[in-house]
Amino acid sequence: MASRTLFGIPVSAGIAIGKAYCLNKCHFSGTARQVVSEAALPGEMTRLTQAFEAAQADLERTLAMVPEDLKEHAAIIESHLMMLKDHKFRKRAQDHIVSAKVNAEWALERAVNDVQEIFAAIADEYLRQRMQDVQLVAERVLGKLVGCGAGREAIKHRAILLAHDLTPADTIELEVNKIMAFATAQGGKTSHAGILARSLQIPAVVGVEGLEDNLNEGTIIILDGFDGRIILEPDEEELARYTDLQVQFEGYQATIMRSCRLPAETIDGFRVQVLANIELFEEVVAVNDNGGEGIGLYRSEYSYLSRSQMPTEEELTEIYADMASLVAPKKLVIRTLDVGADKLMRAHTHVESNPALGLRAIRYCLKHRDVFRTQLRAILRASVVGNVSIMFPMISGLQELVEVKKFYREVQREMHAEGIAFRQDMPFGIMVEVPSAVITADFLAREVDFFSIGTNDLIQYSLGIDRTNKDVSYLYQPLHPAIVRSVKWVVDSAHRAGIEVCLCGEMAADPFCIPVLMGMQVDSISLGPHAIPGIKRIVRQASMEECDALLKQVMASQSVARNNKLVREMIFRRFPEELMFYSSLVDE
Ligand code: PEP
Ligand code: MG
Repeated sequence: MASRTLFGIPVSAGIAIGKAYCLNKCHFSGTARQVVSEAALPGEMTRLTQAFEAAQADLERTLAMVPEDLKEHAAIIESHLMMLKDHKFRKRAQDHIVSAKVNAEWALERAVNDVQEIFAAIADEYLRQRMQDVQLVAERVLGKLVGCGAGREAIKHRAILLAHDLTPADTIELEVNKIMAFATAQGGKTSHAGILARSLQIPAVVGVEGLEDNLNEGTIIILDGFDGRIILEPDEEELARYTDLQVQFEGYQATIMRSCRLPAETIDGFRVQVLANIELFEEVVAVNDNGGEGIGLYRSEYSYLSRSQMPTEEELTEIYADMASLVAPKKLVIRTLDVGADKLMRAHTHVESNPALGLRAIRYCLKHRDVFRTQLRAILRASVVGNVSIMFPMISGLQELVEVKKFYREVQREMHAEGIAFRQDMPFGIMVEVPSAVITADFLAREVDFFSIGTNDLIQYSLGIDRTNKDVSYLYQPLHPAIVRSVKWVVDSAHRAGIEVCLCGEMAADPFCIPVLMGMQVDSISLGPHAIPGIKRIVRQASMEECDALLKQVMASQSVARNNKLVREMIFRRFPEELMFYSSLVDE
């Protein structure tokens, strides 16, 4: 039989070849509407109540089983539990049974639709993901009603998991060590499944078109986590080709891991510090294992996102101080709360029509001074432990920076008066990620100890593309002349003012951009822990002379296409192995 290929979004690199294991979960597409008699209504009500209670008991058991290393995901399970306990949601379904005289399954689906309509009125990526949570919770209840299992299934042999969607609760109920890779029909780049796959370091593809029509247990599958391809029942030639690629990738990974603790120094002696971006406390281990020389960006907002109440000063101090002492003597750069836009908190009640241009990051903090004060005090208290720096996101100009500094000094004075110890000279930096900050970088550089260039947002705001919208993602071009010029100007402005500059956007993890950034002489780069070994290897094989020559050509070029061609040619010639695993990053 000929093989079939499905496509999705690659969220975790690698190749897996194995048998499919289908996660037997229920979803609403098969629910039938049945009219029930008046006499049968109480029976339907009881079935619904029992299903809610059984689903709740399952999740409570799962919560008690959460292992230490997945502790961070417990918050999501807790939030699912809260949704199950929410009487308003249950009541909605009960009301549908009574008013429409229908079966419990259909009433439940109506209740989900009601809630989804409310969510859908808000066009925001993060909230769309939360809408999926409602659906997942309701599917657990549906599973109890119709008797198809959600989770807690024994996988006998290592397999590639295929599922409608995968929640942290599912992965805890399943035996993670038996999952070679997974593919889901739902999900996008920012869904929990992708985060989980990267932290477990298994290949994964999400949002696979047509996956559910092809869910067959035992089918042989090739999952390509580089370009999001799922090949069902591959032929011999495909099996041979992907086995070869898998072996090469494993060999490549083993090679890069061997040298990952060596410094990132070019053959002619230029050294760049390689730091890590992290979101969760647990990632600190991966930073050390992959040769990270410190933490260049701790996205502190993740301690706020999945909870309904703001964390306290004590809680935050404990997290920051623990992390600082674990990382010491290496540096830990804590970025203050960057909420808003795609990173919404549950406690966020304010709906904006254009959140990426709204009350985001430092703007939110300056407006909610109590929240800001709590975090600043916690960071200052942690500054006496280890090697902590503080960094402020989304600064748009000098006036805003002056306002931040004024408040920061005020908080310091308060703490001083209260006799609380802190490090007065903790390095104070800002993210440069808004075009107005780029243009005034020479002024801003005189006011701070360091810059960190956030190219994810800089590209979004400079090229006018929503970073979460897949329809315009083709315009996401880190080597666009506007971006290259911006980054160069910021680096030069920092150096003229005698301060250091880091680059912490995804561009730092892109092998095609590294020689250009090296040519600019950035002092450090900060990237996802698992990307560190590969990037260090490129730096160690390159020379500053060739990076400088490449940069000169790129700076003189007027088009993205020419820049991509220039870097491709260099990488192809000098680092062919790297190109093989990252070729999808640069367009033809
Ligand atoms: C950036 O904008 O490049 C960045 C590193 O910050 P974040 O992705 O968290 O917005
Ligand atoms: Mg940013």
